[in-house]
Amino acid sequence: MIVFDLCCAAGDHRFEAWFASSDAFADQQARGLIGCPVCGDSDVKKAVMAPRVGAKSNQLTVKAPTNPNNAATAGEISPELVRKVIAEIAAKQAEMLPRSRWVGRDFADAARAMHEGRTAEDLIHGQASPQEAQALRDDGIAAMPLLVPIVPPDAVN
Ligand SMILES: [Zn+2]
Repeated sequence: MIVFDLCCAAGDHRFEAWFASSDAFADQQARGLIGCPVCGDSDVKKAVMAPRVGAKSNQLTVKAPTNPNNAATAGEISPELVRKVIAEIAAKQAEMLPRSRWVGRDFADAARAMHEGRTAEDLIHGQASPQEAQALRDDGIAAMPLLVPIVPPDAVN
């Protein structure tokens, strides 16, 4: 991800925009897909400031939207969008956890048993090693990492 300081030709409004790469910016600029957030002018160019490449650590990666409705903004992800997506995931997790059964270290086995129909479908959460999580993915078993760390119930006290 790379952030550019841009400005529009119509009003010289300065704004920041994120792009997958320098080429993605050039492509979107050439096709007039980048609009000034203030006046909507699509005649934008890089402001004189040098571009900053995303930080090396703690940088979140988010898949660019593939929804055709979002095609105009594909490859352009604003920090606001990243915050919004994270907030939504955190909210979803908070909503699901009370209904979810803690299975601790048995997570991989429990998820596999459900997938194979040996036990009833249930919402579960627990711990899995990276190898176990990879094995689940390889077998097409949906499991997603908890974005917000939780304290295992059996680790309390
Ligand atoms: Zn403008």
